Amino acid sequence: MKIYMNDKLVEATEAKVSVFDHGLLYGDGIFEGIRLYDGCVFKLDEHLERLEYSAKAIMLDIPWSREEIAAAVCETCRANGLVSGYIRLVITRGVGSLGLSIKNCDKPQLIIIADKIQLYPEEYYEKGLEIITVPTRRINSAALPPTIKSLNYLNNILAKIEAQHLGYHEAIMLNDQGYVAECTGDNIFVVHKGELITPTASAGALKGITRDTVLDIAEQLGVPWREANLTRYDVWVAEELFLTGTAAEIIPIVKVDARTIGNGLPGKVTARFLEQFRQRVSREGTMLS
Ligand code: PMP
Repeated sequence: MKIYMNDKLVEATEAKVSVFDHGLLYGDGIFEGIRLYDGCVFKLDEHLERLEYSAKAIMLDIPWSREEIAAAVCETCRANGLVSGYIRLVITRGVGSLGLSIKNCDKPQLIIIADKIQLYPEEYYEKGLEIITVPTRRINSAALPPTIKSLNYLNNILAKIEAQHLGYHEAIMLNDQGYVAECTGDNIFVVHKGELITPTASAGALKGITRDTVLDIAEQLGVPWREANLTRYDVWVAEELFLTGTAAEIIPIVKVDARTIGNGLPGKVTARFLEQFRQRVSREGTMLS
C-alpha cells in the first residue's frame, strides 16, 4: 500500500511520523474521513473546506493549497488502484519540542491513506441497529469545540469503550446540559410527526458532511426539518431514528436504551433518505483524473 506523506507517495512501511510530532504527543492535528465511490471522491470540496476550518480553529497554517491536497487525494487513490473505499486525510502539527507550545512546530505533516472501508454489516441496514446512551458526556465546546475535527478523539473513544463494553456498536453522547449531542462517530436524526430533527452543532455535534447532505435531501423531498435541542425522551418517542456519517452513510436505529423505536423496524422515511443518498453518491463526486 502507498501512503501520501507531505509531498510524495511512500510505501506503508516507510510512512512514519516522528515521536516528537505533536499529533502523536498531544493529539494536536486535524483529520477528515472521505469516501470514494466508483472512482469519484464524494464531497471532496466540502471535506477540504471543513479541514481548512479545523486548521483555522487550531491555528495551524496548512502549507498546501486546497487544489494541491485534492490532487494528492486523487493521486493516493490511483496509486493504490482504489475504485471504492475510504480516505483518511490527516494533518499533524508536526515536530516540536516536548512542551505544549506550537511555536517550534514549523512543519505540519500531511498524511493520506486510501484503503478499503470497514462497513457495518449489511444486516444492520436491513434490520436496524440498537444503541444506548453512555455516561461519558460530549466535551463542552468551551473546552474543545466538537465542530473541530481534531486528532483528539479520546472523548469519543471513552464513550465507544462504554458502548462496546455493554455489547453495542454505537452510543448516544449527551452534552453537559443533558441534551443529545451526537454519537461517538456519527450524527443523529429523529423523525417525529413527519418532521426531521437533529441537534445543532452548538449542542456538541460535528457539522457532519453526511448530515448536511441529509438536510439537502430533506429540502429536495420537501420533508420539513429543523435543528433543536433533543432530550433522551425525544429520542425514545421518535417514530424513526437514524445516524449519519461518512463511513456509516445512513443507518437506521431501532432500539435506544431498551426502548423500541417506532415499530422496531427501519422506517419508511429513513429508507427514502438512504435511497436518495445512495443515488447521490453514485452520480456526484470528484472523478479521479
Ligand atoms: N460526529 C463525529 C464525532 C464524527 O467523528 C463523524 C465522522 N465520523 C460524524 C459525526 C459524521 O460526520 P461526517 O458525515 O462528516 O462523516
